[in-house]
Amino acid sequence: MEFRKELEVSKILIGGKVEESVVEIRYDPLTLQTSRVVRKGISLKSEGFEEEIESTKSWCPFCEERIESMVSRDPEIMKGEIWRRGECRAFSNLIPYSRYSLVLRLTEKHFLRPSEFKETHFFDAFKLVQDYINMLPNDKFFITVGMNYLKPAGSSIMHPHIQFLVSENSPDYFARLDWSALEFMESNRKDFWLALLDREKGGERYIGRTKKTEWISAFAPKGLMHVIGIPEEREFAKMSDDQLYGFSEGIVKILNYYETKGFNSFNFAFFCADKLGEHFRTNFHIVARTPFGKFYWCDVFFPKILQDESVVFFAPEDYAKELREIW
Ligand SMILES: [Zn+2]
Repeated sequence: MEFRKELEVSKILIGGKVEESVVEIRYDPLTLQTSRVVRKGISLKSEGFEEEIESTKSWCPFCEERIESMVSRDPEIMKGEIWRRGECRAFSNLIPYSRYSLVLRLTEKHFLRPSEFKETHFFDAFKLVQDYINMLPNDKFFITVGMNYLKPAGSSIMHPHIQFLVSENSPDYFARLDWSALEFMESNRKDFWLALLDREKGGERYIGRTKKTEWISAFAPKGLMHVIGIPEEREFAKMSDDQLYGFSEGIVKILNYYETKGFNSFNFAFFCADKLGEHFRTNFHIVARTPFGKFYWCDVFFPKILQDESVVFFAPEDYAKELREIW
């Protein structure tokens, strides 16, 4: 396993002085996909968006008073029912992205600050996802559980919700992880994620532990403040309550940290090992997005959308250190 990075030094003339900036091009240790770490601060100021909260609340299909009449249902596995657990409601995505495609509404409240999410919000949704996976036909599927929160993260609906995608065809990066992990297993006789933990534990990118879960910052971040969660238990559907709770605990800690840094928008995704094979371990990724506000900007610009290379403004070793201190 290699943690390769290349440095480029750029000079700028500013205020009559020449200033040098170092740009780091980092290679992901599993897929070799590159990310650029540009250590230049960006403004995280966000203007209020009270108006947006109020106006979206007036038509939101995920608010309790509209959910029964407005959401679409899954006629197959869920037999047209809405599944419920705590505040969570599970139903079909009106815009399906794969063979099986659900939305899990997380909270009764229409809008939450990141620090207002509770472990049970995520835990209840993960339990419903498990129920669904256990009812799937016995075929090979690529299973993703992901979340977009607020517009900078790509969410069209403000109300907190998770998406659950079960596809017969692998998403591009999922395929890369799958092949690379298989190759890694063949030459190292250990799954990549356990090997990664062996390397990172106690190091400058190690953050800490929650129940059955270890947390590290990504060497080659795919987004701002990219953190990875690695579970003891390999397959999502077979995870114990302790394991699912460990994930929920870690997510809540990270969201609290994001808020202290001025972030309010984020994405996360699980790449689930279910139905893949011993070489694959479920792995979890979370990134902050530029803060939502009236005049927000998007941190996914041409390098990412067209060249598939992330550009980030925070070094993983720096935020891992801060997270470690509050963990
Ligand atoms: Zn709502």
